[in-house]
Amino acid sequence: MIRKSSKLNQVNYEIRGPIFEKARELEEAGHNITRLNIGNPAPFGFTTPTELVNEIVQNLVHAQGYIDTRGLPAAREAIRRYSAMKGITDVRMEDIYVGNGVSELIMFTMQALLNDGDEVLIPSPDYPLWTSAVNLAGGRAVHYRCDEASDWMPDLADLESKISHRTKALVVINPNNPTGAVYSEELLQKMAKIAERHRLVLYSDEIYDQILYDDTVHHSIASYVKETLCVTMNGLSKNSRAAGFRAGWAVVSGRRAEAKSYLEGLTTLASMRLCSNVPTQFAITVALDSPSSIRQMTLPQGRLRQQRDLCIEKLNQIEGISCVMPRGAFYAFPKIDLKRFRVENDQQFILDILQETRILLVQGTGFNWPEPDHFRVVFLPPVETLGPALDRLGSFLASYRGT
Ligand code: PLP
Repeated sequence: MIRKSSKLNQVNYEIRGPIFEKARELEEAGHNITRLNIGNPAPFGFTTPTELVNEIVQNLVHAQGYIDTRGLPAAREAIRRYSAMKGITDVRMEDIYVGNGVSELIMFTMQALLNDGDEVLIPSPDYPLWTSAVNLAGGRAVHYRCDEASDWMPDLADLESKISHRTKALVVINPNNPTGAVYSEELLQKMAKIAERHRLVLYSDEIYDQILYDDTVHHSIASYVKETLCVTMNGLSKNSRAAGFRAGWAVVSGRRAEAKSYLEGLTTLASMRLCSNVPTQFAITVALDSPSSIRQMTLPQGRLRQQRDLCIEKLNQIEGISCVMPRGAFYAFPKIDLKRFRVENDQQFILDILQETRILLVQGTGFNWPEPDHFRVVFLPPVETLGPALDRLGSFLASYRGT
């Protein structure tokens, strides 16, 4: 018997978990599955801007060798300019790490920081890679609650009450996956103060920072942080609809004086994989220096905006389901009224939906939400697919009682 290592005991990624496999089996058996489970824009017609693809193609010949561990200088210059535009002004070239997606950088930053038992504050619900990366690094993910009744804003009293002598870091996901919440300047300033007061390293995952609806403005928390270390992450996967290119970056700012050893560790980890894939780094400059094309899609007549509106309207029409309006990203995180549906196991709930309606969703507990009373919907498919799928969901739930 070859067993997985015990390091993986607390490591899960339900977005590609057992139900994902079940959907694949159904597809292989000839069923047509409507996939509302993964935030992967390109297969839904949100293709990468041509100028990014052209830039990569034209530069392929220059991408044959290893490069600097931190990334191409031109790409890092563009990231520095973008950071400055977002108010993160104290960034040097050596403060920027380009990686094979934000995912890799989440793993590196946690591996470099945590000793066994160190705690990291992570939102609940979360993008689950954060929790898994902390657990894999030997740390303990401690979840602070985001409050659905306040449009999913973090509950700062709950957050502060969970800080202990072992807490090393605070993670902010803004715009949020899975709730679509976008945090106000005032809230971010308060979170920055908490991190500074307790000398927590602040990690801000901003991979959806250009996908904003209803005149919502995005603020980078790093622009308010002086007295502690801050690491801001972003990439090409969502804003540039180039998830398959695997390009992301981490920008270190704030108080670096006490962080020399940590940053050395981070650089060691990055060096161990030599460099991240080179061809796509050429696209970073083009993506960041030209006006964002995703913005058009979030305007009132834009495709993403129409899909969001339809999705939330249809979900709220289902008796026993309610959903807060997302202000960013492309996810909805609706609530299941447990008085109407007897759901004890939300994985079974999602499986029942898959089997009966051929719609693939992800259960709320997969996002480290503690109760079985939520699920996530990805609203990337066009309205012609999304509308009928959500109607099918509504019809199924009209006669559904529970798991
Ligand atoms: N962070 C968040 C909040 C995400 O939703 C995702 C992907 O869904 C990632 C990071 C991973 O991004 P990447 O494709 O850059 O690895």
